Formats: sequence, structure tokens, C-alpha cells
Amino acid sequence: MSGPILPGATLGVMGGGQLGRMFIHAAQRMGYFTAVLDPDAASPAGRVSHHHIVAAYLDAPGLGQLAETCDAITTEFENVPAPALARLAAYTTVSPAAASVAIAQDRAAEKAHFVACGVPCAPYAVLETPVQLAAIDEALLPGILKTSRMGYDGKGQVRVATYAELAQAWLDLKGVPCVLEKMLPLAAECSVIVARGADGQIVNLPIQRNLHREGILAVTEVYEENMPPAQVASALAAAKSIANGLDYVGVLCVEFFVLQDGSLVVNEIAPRPHNSGHYTIDACVTSQFEQQVRVVAGLPLGGTHQHVPAVMVNLLGDIWFAGSASDGEREPDWMQVLRHPQAKLHLYGKAHPRHGRKMGHVTCLAPTLDEALAMARAIKRDLGIGGADDL
Ligand code: ATP
Ligand code: MG
Repeated sequence: MSGPILPGATLGVMGGGQLGRMFIHAAQRMGYFTAVLDPDAASPAGRVSHHHIVAAYLDAPGLGQLAETCDAITTEFENVPAPALARLAAYTTVSPAAASVAIAQDRAAEKAHFVACGVPCAPYAVLETPVQLAAIDEALLPGILKTSRMGYDGKGQVRVATYAELAQAWLDLKGVPCVLEKMLPLAAECSVIVARGADGQIVNLPIQRNLHREGILAVTEVYEENMPPAQVASALAAAKSIANGLDYVGVLCVEFFVLQDGSLVVNEIAPRPHNSGHYTIDACVTSQFEQQVRVVAGLPLGGTHQHVPAVMVNLLGDIWFAGSASDGEREPDWMQVLRHPQAKLHLYGKAHPRHGRKMGHVTCLAPTLDEALAMARAIKRDLGIGGADDL
């Protein structure tokens, strides 16, 4: 890279979802112009960007227009095809690199990378042929069959208890390449977000403790001592070795399982900012999205200090349907969030709520964890978000 790309230049993002929207917000705040490529004319990021190229991710004229418009380009959605990033890289600076994204897009390649880095992951087997199915080690059951590509928010995953269920589930998934992962006894889940520059400088954000419901992130809690120090140290070391091993340039999220014996195994990586890092917008010196702007533009990385304990609650489309059946779809009562002076409401501007669809999030800030949790509990209850007693 020749020197930093300074404010006044144009930064682009492949993908127009909420992660792209928050990247655009961060870039614009710092004085950059922005461009988004996304096929949806009403995409959350496209609606707030200076330029919105409405095109498919592999559309050659669209990619050409994006490359011409932008001084540097990043991605916000791991299912943006790696070849699209490779094409853009022929014309302009792209981070993360297509090769890193390609690994994160394929569970089999991703797990092989974990093994190569010496970071333990769940026992697994690659399932791509009937011969591999016949040879599956039954010690992997009960397990979770996951499509190797294109999964997110628990999509493309089937829990299987027996060999017969596995065979049927793979048939139902039309025999696409999969991995079978052993179901592990989870005590907790956590994630680490790192930002790594082209010069190899790397920083980590505070470790996030995550609660999932039905395969979708529900709540993230971030405060001093949210995880035992030994687990934090091993998660940070693993996340950095995974990023360094990829010679990664960008923001990377590494998700972990904490097993009931206290040991840590890596689950998966996301080559972009992550839902579990949204609290950084309101609680940290530098948000994960500003870190992404800094890396893409070749600027020094930002400080990672967290000012205040934070509990982030996801707002899924379900709460638009939380009233009585006769109400149908209705806007949630946002005053139940806004009445808390330290609750920060984020909505992504999606027109159509659906069950399980990420529509927004709330970050609860408070001087103590207990106060932040109490606020989060009240908001969950008042908006009709399930599992208020999980906190
Ligand atoms: P996202 O991309 O939104 O993080 P995903 O669709 O890639 O989700 P995973 O992270 O693979 O899905 O799994 C979703 C959740 O399912 C995990 O956070 C965990 O709660 C549970 N899960 C997945 N794999 C296992 C496993 N091997 N053992 C126990 N629980 C698991
Ligand atoms: Mg996951």
C-alpha cells in the first residue's frame, strides 16, 4: 500500500446490510465519501451511502464502477463471493484479501486453518461424498451437520443424533458439501475481535461473552472479568494466531466455545466486524467499524479501551409480531427503550421484519454490570423479547 488514504477519499463496501451501514456511518463521520455495492435498492447501507451501485456481487460492470469510484474497498458480508474481491483487487486496494475471505467462507477450509494454527476446534469430519458418509465416525454423534458454505445465524444447520438422521439430513441439504461437528457440552460462548493492519500491527477489542438462542446471537455482555483470566488469555492468543496465520488485513471476529471443563475451542471466524462487537460503538474509544475504516484506509489502529460496562440486546423481527395474533405486525414501542437515558437504540432501517431477522440492537450502558443487566432485562421484558430470565 502506498500511504494512508485520507479523509476526502472514497471508501467502498461490498454488501449493503447493517454491518455495511455502520461502516458507512463510521467512514462518513471521519470525512470520507462512501460507496456500497448491493443488489437490493433498499439495502440498509445503500440507503445511507453517497453512492449505491445496485448490482449483483459478481456483476462485472457493477464491480468496475465500484473500483472506479473507490480508493479502497472492504466487505461486510461473508457470503460476498471471494472472486468478486479478487477482481476488485486488480484495480484498487481491497481488505480483507480474497484469500482470507475464501477460507472464512468454507467451514472445511476454516477448520483446516485452525488445525494448522494449533488452535483446537470441535471434532469434525468433512462430508462431501457418499463414501465419506459411509465412513463417518459415530463418535461424532450426536452432532451438528453444517453446510460448508453460505450459512449464517444458524441457517444451513441440522442437529443429528443418529447415523440415520445424519444420512437423512444430508439428503435434505441436497448433498451439498458439509461438515459434521460433534455436539459439545457448552458452558459459555465468547468472541474476540481483532483489527490487523497491512503492516502486521494487531489489536484486540475487549473479549465478548455471548448468549445465543436458537442459533442466533441474543445478548453480548462485556465488562471487566466477564471471563476467567486464563480463558481470556488463551482466547486472545488463539485469535491473534489465527489472524497472523492468514496474514489477515482487516477486522476479524473469532468465535469460541467454552466447554464445561473450562477449556476453549474455536467455533468459526467472520472476516468482518461482528454482531458481538456492536457495543463498541457506544462503549469503546474506537468502534469495530472505525477500526475497519482505519485498516482499509491504511491509518494507524485506534485505541481499544472500554469506558463502561455494556450489555447488548439484539432486536429480531420476532418482536414486531409479539402482540396478540390479531394485531399482526406492529412497530415495537421504542419508548420502552428510549425512557432509559443510558440505553442506546440502533435500528438498521429494514423495511420488512421477519422472524429471526436482525432489525436492530440496544446497548445498555451503566456504571456497574448489575445496573446494565437490570436495564437489559427490563427492555427485553417490555419489548416482548424471549428469555428475559436468561440474564
Ligand atoms: P453466525 O454466523 O450467525 O455466528 P452460524 O450460522 O455460522 O452463525 P455457528 O456459529 O456455527 O452458526 O453456530 C450457531 C450456534 O449454534 C453457536 O453459537 C452455538 O450456540 C451452537 N453450536 C454450533 N456448533 C455447536 C457444537 N459443535 N456444539 C454445541 N453447540 C454448537
Ligand atoms: Mg457463529
